[in-house]
Amino acid sequence: MIYLDNQATTPLAPEARAAMLRQLDGPDGTGFGNPHSPHRMGRMAAAAVETAREKVAALFPAGGRVIFTGNACEAINLAMRGAKRSGRIAVSAIEHAAVMDTAHAVGAPIVIPVGADGCADPRTNLPSGLAMVCVMQVNNEIGTVQPVAELAAQARAAGALFLCDAVQGAGKFGPPADADLIAVSAHKIYGPKGIGALWVRDGVELTPQITGGLQEGLRSGTLSPALVAGFGAAATLAQDRMEEDAAHARRLWDRALDLFGDWQINGSLDNRNHANLSIRREGLDVARLMSTCRNVMFSAGSACASGSGKPSHVLKAIGLSDAEAKSTVRLGWGRYTSLEELETAAQEIKAAVKEQELWG
Ligand code: PLP
Repeated sequence: MIYLDNQATTPLAPEARAAMLRQLDGPDGTGFGNPHSPHRMGRMAAAAVETAREKVAALFPAGGRVIFTGNACEAINLAMRGAKRSGRIAVSAIEHAAVMDTAHAVGAPIVIPVGADGCADPRTNLPSGLAMVCVMQVNNEIGTVQPVAELAAQARAAGALFLCDAVQGAGKFGPPADADLIAVSAHKIYGPKGIGALWVRDGVELTPQITGGLQEGLRSGTLSPALVAGFGAAATLAQDRMEEDAAHARRLWDRALDLFGDWQINGSLDNRNHANLSIRREGLDVARLMSTCRNVMFSAGSACASGSGKPSHVLKAIGLSDAEAKSTVRLGWGRYTSLEELETAAQEIKAAVKEQELWG
């Protein structure tokens, strides 16, 4: 099987797996300690958590703290529901459901429009009296990079907090500048599923959303030292390999543009994550394509939107018609995807498309 769905999740890096196993085993089987217990085994587990916290902190700017959560969705909920500010929330039109649904749950959000290039307008005039502005670093469906520095500066000028969902940007790009709150997820950077983090700028106050011990200060529940250790190892690896990973993604991107030269590309060609290719083809039956190409794992739009039957709100926000949105596929490669795999996958996809177009 060829995996081209690295925006949905990434394979576990061998280094992250090794760190998790080391933590699970521990010296002489002592790895199962509760990091919140005061005895020696607990303190050993707590030390491992703090070591990993420092590694994860390297993904963020200085001047804040890392709160471990179960995933990015939880981190985003903590930020948006826990902010001690009153006023409306503004979100970009292409936010992930984690932000979009939470914004709707806490009030009627102001929506920041996005151009046909898939980027929010950095000169958007934000109204005063906002509680929070939420704009993602990199879009998960079409891979476009958002002007977060400009929008964060505007949010600050308007007296609002700025939350950046950096799930698809973390480890690939430097941290978003000037954010007050940043959410990330381990399983998008070759770490384990079941762990994420919220970075909170010093001085920003939040109300905990999960009570029951407040082991993480702002979040309750026993941490898993193995998951945290895997996240830490994945974060270090992503930092160390940022340039190498980007160059690899770029090589595959250039080849993919040749291979899919007669398809339409969604979103800006320049301002983007080069590991995410969102393309469409008139009349394409994506569900049928996915069932024909059994050896290639790819996505119709985004994993969350697929299955709902509704055209993606991201593709609609950049001006595509329902038909164009529904004829879109997302190919997402990563650190462990080879050029040969991409070429084989493209061959399989193109043969299936040809068959559809010949026989209807
Ligand atoms: N934000 C973006 C941009 C995502 O792509 C995802 C996952 O697909 C999330 C948030 C949610 O992340 P998690 O799976 O860690 O809850």
